[in-house]
Amino acid sequence: MTIAGKHALVTGGGSGIGLAIARALAEAGAEVTITGRRAGVLEAVSGAGLHPIVMDVTQEAQVIAGVAQAVAARGPVQICIANAGIAEGRALHKTDADFWRQIMATNLDGAFYTLRECLTGMRHTDWGRVIAMSSIAGLKGLKGAAAYTASKHGMIGLIRGLSEDYLGTGLTFNAICPGYVDTEIVHRNATAISQRAGVSEEAARTLMVEANRHKRLIAPEEVAQAALWLCGPGSSSINGQTIELAGGQV
Ligand code: NDP
Repeated sequence: MTIAGKHALVTGGGSGIGLAIARALAEAGAEVTITGRRAGVLEAVSGAGLHPIVMDVTQEAQVIAGVAQAVAARGPVQICIANAGIAEGRALHKTDADFWRQIMATNLDGAFYTLRECLTGMRHTDWGRVIAMSSIAGLKGLKGAAAYTASKHGMIGLIRGLSEDYLGTGLTFNAICPGYVDTEIVHRNATAISQRAGVSEEAARTLMVEANRHKRLIAPEEVAQAALWLCGPGSSSINGQTIELAGGQV
C-alpha cells in the first residue's frame, strides 16, 4: 500500500514537527488534514495537499467535530498522527493541579480523543497507520519535568494497548520519541531554562545541544522521514514500537 491518495490527519500540523510530517506526507501524494488552535498559522501553510481545520485537542467536542469535518471532506482517516503537544518543565512540588491538567489534557487526553475519533472509521478498514509523537521523556525520566514525562509515557502506553487491540487487522500503532528538535517548543524551553537557571538563552540552548551525543539539535524533517517510513510499505511489521530519534540521548 502506498501513501498516495490516502487521507492523513496531523494534529499540531501547522508548525514544527507536525508541519514537517504533513508536508512529507503531502509530497508522497496524501491529502493531509492539519489541525491546531491558531487559524492564521494553519491558513498560512495550507494548500499543496494541506487542508486546515481549527480544533483544540483538549476539547472533546471540538475533536469530534473536527475529525467529522475532515472525514466528510476527504473520507475516513487512514493515517493519524497525534502530534499536538506542549512541553513545560516544573518541579513536582511547584506543580499545581491546573498545570498538571493542562499538560495531561493536551498531550494525553488530546491523543486519546484524536485516536478514538480517527479509529471510528479506520477500524472498519484493512489498512491504517497511527503514530503518536511521544518523546525521549516517554522512555526515560526528564529532570524537572515529571508531568511532561508522565504524559509522554502515557502516550506510549496508549499506543501499545491499541497495537494489541487491533493485532492482525492491517492497522499499526507506533510512537516516535525525539530528543531536542529545532522547533518553537525548544526555543520556548530555552527561555524558560535560562530564567530558571539564571543563565543566558544561548547557554540554555547549548545544554540541549550537548544532551544530544551528535552535538546538535535534530531537524523537524528528520522526524518527518521516520514518520513517512512508518506510513510506507516497508514498515508493516513494525507495530506497538517506539522509535528513538535522539542522537543517542537515551
Ligand atoms: P510546536 O510548538 O511547533 O508544535 C506544537 C503544535 O501543537 C503546534 O502546532 C500547536 O498548534 C499544537 N497544539 C498545542 N496545543 C494544542 C491544543 N490544545 N490543541 C490543538 N493543537 C495544539 O513544537 P513541536 O513541533 O516541537 O512539537 C510537536 C510535538 O513533538 C509535541 O507533542 C512535543 O511534545 C513533541 N516533541 C517535541 C520535541 C522538541 O524538542 N521539539 C522533543 C520531543 C517531543 P496551536 O498552538 O496552533 O494550537
